[in-house]
Amino acid sequence: MVHIVGAGCGAPDLITLRGKKHLENADVIIYAGSLVNAELLSFAKKDCDIYDSAKMTLEEIINVIVSAESENKTTVRLHTGDPSLYGAIGEQIREFSIHGIEYDITPGVSSFSGAASSLKTEYTLPDVSQTVIITRASGNTSVPDSENLVSLAKHRATMVLFLSTGLLDKVTKELIEGGYSPDTPAAIVYKATWADEKVFRCTVSTLKKTAEENKITKTALITVGDFLTSDFSRSHLYDPDFSTEFREAKK
Ligand code: SAH
Repeated sequence: MVHIVGAGCGAPDLITLRGKKHLENADVIIYAGSLVNAELLSFAKKDCDIYDSAKMTLEEIINVIVSAESENKTTVRLHTGDPSLYGAIGEQIREFSIHGIEYDITPGVSSFSGAASSLKTEYTLPDVSQTVIITRASGNTSVPDSENLVSLAKHRATMVLFLSTGLLDKVTKELIEGGYSPDTPAAIVYKATWADEKVFRCTVSTLKKTAEENKITKTALITVGDFLTSDFSRSHLYDPDFSTEFREAKK
């Protein structure tokens, strides 16, 4: 059995109770060493075999898992943040199917959630934006043309860009071409929820400069949108004049 587990995006106590239980019971752990907090490995059994997938190919990862399966061992595949986003688990799952290997997935706190906590804000403010676009700039991994940044920018929704810190010239140009004004608020969140987390607030037009001045080249998210500064309306959820499924309006 393979448990794909989301490690959370940095602080080790952000792993779920279920994820921690899987780590404690694992015979083999393969963790994404480039981004997973190594403190999580302290939950492993003393005799657990631990591999850093940052140094491995897909074939090597699958070989380790297939050999663990042949010995009836339990493997945890520990991914950063939430495994469903930019985790390359799809190609592993395809191999599990080919080899008849049973697996399940435990979600984790994604860095886009971690970044909102670092920014101490809400992405979905009433009358500002009710949509969060999670995407990346097209680079080594191409993005389907129908999802190009210019077209996504037309919505002027809250946007969170993964894996894009090295492409900020292009990002800025496309965001402005699409419809964000150059002075739309933006923020670079570096290592959200880690001890050395850093937050830099800027605008769409100063993203590149801000990253350069602060030497941020990786492990960062770019967030864009008026959620970072705007005035907004209060919600109906806690409005005394509105009834909800759980509460009558105050007369
Ligand atoms: N599955 C992960 C994303 C993996 S892709 C998740 O849900 O967060 C790796 C990219 O995620 C990094 O290049 C960076 O853009 C972002 N990232 C991961 N952890 C981060 C963190 N703690 N703070 C800011 N960005 C982070």
